[in-house]
Amino acid sequence: MEVQASFPRRVTRQVMVGDVPVGGGAPVSVQSMTVTRTADHEATLQQIYDLAMAGADIVRCTCNEIEAAEGLARIVPRSPVPIVADIHHNYKMALAALEAGVHCLRLNPGNIRNPDHIRTVAAEARDRDVPIRIGVNGGSLHPDLYKKYGDVVTAEAMVESALTEIGYFAEVGFDQVKISVKASSVPLMVDAYRQLAEVTDHPLHLGVTEAGPPPAGLIKSSAGIGALLVEGIGDTIRYSLTADPVQEARAGRQLLEALGLRERKNVDLIACPSCGRAEVDVIAVAEAAMEAFADRQIPLQVAVMGCVVNGPGEARDADLGIAAGNKRGHLFVKGRNVAVVAEDEMVDALVEWAELIHDQGAEAAMARVDTELAAREAELDRRRLLADQGEDANDTGIVIEAIRRQSA
Ligand code: SF4
Repeated sequence: MEVQASFPRRVTRQVMVGDVPVGGGAPVSVQSMTVTRTADHEATLQQIYDLAMAGADIVRCTCNEIEAAEGLARIVPRSPVPIVADIHHNYKMALAALEAGVHCLRLNPGNIRNPDHIRTVAAEARDRDVPIRIGVNGGSLHPDLYKKYGDVVTAEAMVESALTEIGYFAEVGFDQVKISVKASSVPLMVDAYRQLAEVTDHPLHLGVTEAGPPPAGLIKSSAGIGALLVEGIGDTIRYSLTADPVQEARAGRQLLEALGLRERKNVDLIACPSCGRAEVDVIAVAEAAMEAFADRQIPLQVAVMGCVVNGPGEARDADLGIAAGNKRGHLFVKGRNVAVVAEDEMVDALVEWAELIHDQGAEAAMARVDTELAAREAELDRRRLLADQGEDANDTGIVIEAIRRQSA
């Protein structure tokens, strides 16, 4: 599937997180974070596999205790994706994570403040050729900077925090760096990333921190991350949701696909919003279809449409779709009718056809069926519905009449 991004991306250096390139024109990568105890390496690995299946290219695990570092030593060799260790206050955990073989560290300059400790970690990362993300967080800004900028978190303070950390790294000759300047306020994080992009060419990791549960968390993250990506800013992203992290990975992946920054991996489900013509509960069918496709790696656009009167036409660009009518589901491929199924088999039929098209191609899938018969049946149901409901199933004419009466 072709990537269609039409906006230029900011030119950045590249760092390698394991075998995943970040920056330097590489595809924007998706990150997520495990919520298991890292010391429980089996549970953590299971979650890493789930996240990788859902679209994560890189996964972060907390390294907050020595048992977590030991867990990382077991996790890293078996992980399907590179692992980043999240370090909190203790720089020794960073050294332990490096010893465990992690592919990247995340340091928060607001938490590890002793320059000697920072330089020690950077020197060790340099010797092991492991990159570090400088993860500035508006909520845990270095107290000196907080004070300097008038006891408020500002974009300028976050940028200064990142640049100061880069300065410590430079003192030991380390520059394998990516940076994030996250805040829970979307305008603040957008401002901070814009400013940062002006003063550095290190790759940037985008995120809205503590975005909260969906749907608000999804909206905030998409607004902040999406706005920056459209400006060409951002090399890797993470949704921080108060939810199963699988949702984070899926959302990140879907955002990049929607912006044409990554090739489609899973089904892109589109559905009509339903209206007075709907012959079926569109929301329920669309949700059932979402669940049925889940993380099946079928990169097709699939449409669920409420009626056969307008559905096949409105979704003619979809690879595959189904439209309800007269207790039946009319399947269509690129707008062409291919089969008729019972209403309660609509979702199963969609999945079956999607797999068929994915495996054999649309032409081969259509060659198996009588498309003319399917078209005739669809036309019959279409006419029946038009005869029952007329041309104006949404009563638009009545509403327009009322508007005219009111304004007369
Ligand atoms: S006209 Fe049919 S396809 Fe269009 S929104 Fe209404 S139910 Fe859906």
